[in-house]
Amino acid sequence: MRRTRNAKIIATLGPASSTPQAIEGLFVAGADVFRLNFSHGSYADHQARYDSIRELEKRLRRPIAVLADLQGPKLRVGKFEGGKVHLESGAPFRFDLSPEIGTTERAPLPHPEVFAALSVGTEVLLDDGRLRMRVEKHGADFADVRVLVGGDLSNHKGVNVPNAFLPISPLTEKDKADLDFAVAMGADWIALSFVQRPEDVAEARRLIAQKVGARVRLLSKLEKPQAIEHLDEIIEMSDAIMVARGDLGVECPPETVPILQKRIVKACRAAGKPVVVATQMLDSMVHSPAPTRAEASDVATAIYDGADAVMLSAETAAGDYPVDAVTMMDRIINRVEQDEHYRLIIDASRSAPENTTRDAISAAARQVAQTLNCAAVVTFTSSGSTTLRAARERPDQPIINLTSDIEVARQLALVWGVHSVQTAEVRSFSEMVQKSCRAAQREGFAKVGDRIVITAGVPFGCSGTTNILRVAEIDDGGEVM
Ligand code: PGA
Ligand code: MN
Repeated sequence: MRRTRNAKIIATLGPASSTPQAIEGLFVAGADVFRLNFSHGSYADHQARYDSIRELEKRLRRPIAVLADLQGPKLRVGKFEGGKVHLESGAPFRFDLSPEIGTTERAPLPHPEVFAALSVGTEVLLDDGRLRMRVEKHGADFADVRVLVGGDLSNHKGVNVPNAFLPISPLTEKDKADLDFAVAMGADWIALSFVQRPEDVAEARRLIAQKVGARVRLLSKLEKPQAIEHLDEIIEMSDAIMVARGDLGVECPPETVPILQKRIVKACRAAGKPVVVATQMLDSMVHSPAPTRAEASDVATAIYDGADAVMLSAETAAGDYPVDAVTMMDRIINRVEQDEHYRLIIDASRSAPENTTRDAISAAARQVAQTLNCAAVVTFTSSGSTTLRAARERPDQPIINLTSDIEVARQLALVWGVHSVQTAEVRSFSEMVQKSCRAAQREGFAKVGDRIVITAGVPFGCSGTTNILRVAEIDDGGEVM
């Protein structure tokens, strides 16, 4: 089974998509990575979804990445009677520390540091800024507010206080426990929310390094203006980046979000780090079987910019049309990538190779593949780093990532253009060429007579040694001519 597109789709799992059948439906429709959102659900929920994903992976023999998204120091309201309330504009409302279930008059806000940081007139935004309130009176354990813009407010919705300084650690106690759980479960990626400084990423790395055998990769979610001030260092420290537009668009003025998105995607592509564009991409499909034109255009923009992946949140986690949302995203990506304009834009926005053997080989592989009209670029890798550099080139041909390491195969499911295949270790050069030809043929990328470009490092098995480029032609038995 193979995809016909380069950009990947991340689908968030939730109540609308938790059964093994639902997860399989999303995968078949096009989801390459599943996101387990630790802001919602119990460990039992996450474990059950994780087990279903691994079972599916085994059955379909395709590596699937699991992204465990830590809540971070995100402020959230508590629960409400019946799951949600409707708040009228102009009405008074209260937040307090009482754990009692919320009503139309008050709601629990279990963050004492917020009450300490408020002033009269401070705006409090809820549910990604959909609801707005202004503080009229506050104490150590409550805030009386006026609803400026009302609406429905449901359990655990996010709270932002953009103009107040909140001295909160980037990894809460809950995050540390969730990190332990996610690593032990076998997540491939950990997403770190509300990263503000490079030190935040370093702290998460230290925690992961303490866990024996943990090889999970770290994705930093950029959703605070402070993070943009340290963009290059945060990219450098992270394995991947997410443009987390939900909170970013609340913390920063909305008109700056598209500009930041383009800047972040460009910087990540230059650094060769995978970049995800997330949130509200097909938002109206939470309740409608079709997207708005603006949403289709939004997904297309991320694809033209060369993002590695686009993400669905509520659309798949809690929406009425989870499979339709993935199908729609798949269709938009496929269509954009067939546009001849797309190739021109991707080529024009490529960064020059760095001064390393690996980059020189990766750039050459792209050029050779194009000149010879090859069927695929095949990368042999133990750590995945060669494949990341090959993907940085954004070649016109699919990249087949051959690795003996199932974790690397899964992790790279997030990466632009990469089709991962787990294979046994190779001992010789001819074995490598043979395996590459067979994999390209078997996985549906090449047929007899086609040529492929192979890159690898000799001696085999040590990472970071890419120094070989080989062109091979596929013959009848998948053997080499
Ligand atoms: P969230 O992150 O869905 O966990 O809030 C994504 C975003 O803020 O865009
Ligand atoms: Mn967020």
